[in-house]
Amino acid sequence: MKLLEDRIRRDGRVLGTEVLKVDSFLNHQIDPELMAAIGEEFARLFANNKIDKILTVESSGIAPAVFTGLALHVPVVFARKNKSLTLPDDVWTADVYSFTKNVTNHVMIDHRFLMAGENVLLIDDFLANGQAIEGLLSIAQQAKAEVVGVGIVIEKTFQKGRQLLDELGIEVESLARIKSFDNGKVTFLS
Ligand code: 5GP
Repeated sequence: MKLLEDRIRRDGRVLGTEVLKVDSFLNHQIDPELMAAIGEEFARLFANNKIDKILTVESSGIAPAVFTGLALHVPVVFARKNKSLTLPDDVWTADVYSFTKNVTNHVMIDHRFLMAGENVLLIDDFLANGQAIEGLLSIAQQAKAEVVGVGIVIEKTFQKGRQLLDELGIEVESLARIKSFDNGKVTFLS
């Protein structure tokens, strides 16, 4: 998606060898017009699928997920990061390790918002090692919901998330695919 790639080139900042900061337009300050375009693009890419609901993880997946939900006219559910040690028993849960923060979050979705037989699209801001999406896949499996595909705003192709999802046979659509961060410069897969 050219609009997104241009924005990453202009405003993204590379940290070290693996992390891209996009906090001026995606996950701290948010550009709603760019998010609306992202939502429309995911809706177009998954137009041939029956989608009942969108799942994401708080907090940075929420903006692209909500705009996709708006474009597809379906509800959006985000997995909450649970801070207490005691979990209610009416939730689906998964452990998600975040390599950018070096913490494991227990994420959960209330049984009321994800049911057997629902067709769900998973959306997230980044695909790196695939842990966040794996957590959502586990939750969908527990609920006996069907995952129709995964929509990623920014994929870092040099990390192992894509391979993991390809091996599971899941359709993944990424709007920007980063090949490398050589010397702080972002290069995209053409
Ligand atoms: P994964 O679970 O695929 O390893 O990583 C995806 C999650 O980690 C995303 O939900 C995102 O919040 C965070 N993340 C991974 N890589 C980056 C990155 O380069 N920049 C930012 N800002 N977040 C990232």
